[in-house]
Amino acid sequence: MHAGAMPLTATAVIAAAGSGERLGAGGPKAFVGLAGRPLLAHSLEAIAAAQRIGAVVVAAPADAVDRARELLAAHPGLEGTVVPGGPSRAESVALALEHVATDLVLVHDAARPLAPPALWDAVVERLERDSELSAVIAAAPVTDTIKSAEPGTEIVTGTVPRDGLWGAQTPQGFRVAALRAAQEAARAQGRLADATDEARLIEEAGERVGLEPAPAGNIKVTTAEDLLVAAALLGA
Ligand code: C5P
Repeated sequence: MHAGAMPLTATAVIAAAGSGERLGAGGPKAFVGLAGRPLLAHSLEAIAAAQRIGAVVVAAPADAVDRARELLAAHPGLEGTVVPGGPSRAESVALALEHVATDLVLVHDAARPLAPPALWDAVVERLERDSELSAVIAAAPVTDTIKSAEPGTEIVTGTVPRDGLWGAQTPQGFRVAALRAAQEAARAQGRLADATDEARLIEEAGERVGLEPAPAGNIKVTTAEDLLVAAALLGA
C-alpha cells in the first residue's frame, strides 16, 4: 500500500465491542458520530494513513459486525477482519489476536479516535529499535495532583508523588508471542478479565514495557463532554 516504504510489520487490533453505556448514546460507542463519522472510522483512517500498519482486526459488538465491515471497505489497502467481541475488553482483544498473522500487534481502543498516524508508527519503530522491550505503550505524564482514599470512601488518606506517574493510553504495541503467552498465563490464573490494558499482562509476566509519549489530543471518549472536546480538537 505504501510503495517504497519500510516493510509492513504490524497489525492493528481495535477493541470496539463495548456497549458504551456511560456515553448514553443508546448504541455501541464505536459507532457514535464524531464530525460526521463513527468513532471507529476515525481510528481506521489513522491506521490506513500510518506507514507501518498493513492489517487491522476489529472486535465489534456481535450485532454490529456488518457495520464494522462496511467501514473497513473504505480502506481497500488495509487487510481487514472483523470478529465479534467477548464479554470483557481483554477477551475481545484476545479473540481478535487469534486473527493476527504478523510479529507485532498494536492494540487500540475505538474510544480513542484521535491517535495520529505518527503515534502508530512511533510505537512500531520503537519496538523494532529496542529488542529488550516486549511492549511499547502510548502514555502521558500525569498532570493532576493525585490523592489516595480509603476504598469506597471520599476521605483522603494521602498524596501520591506525581513524579514518574504516567496515564496509560492506546495504541499499545506488543511482540505477538509475548502477548499471547501473557494472556494465556492470565487466563489460567483467572485474572484476564481484570486487565484494563494488555501492558499489565506483560508487566505481570516480568517483561519490560516502554512508554511512548503521546500527543495531548489522544483523549479517550467516555462521556458526552469528551465527544464535544474531541470535536473541538478535530476542528482546531
Ligand atoms: O468501556 P471502555 O471505554 O473502558 O472500553 C474501552 C474499549 O474496549 C472500547 O473501545 C470498547 O469498545 C472496548 N470493549 C470491547 N469489548 C468489551 C468491552 C469493551 O472491545 N466487551
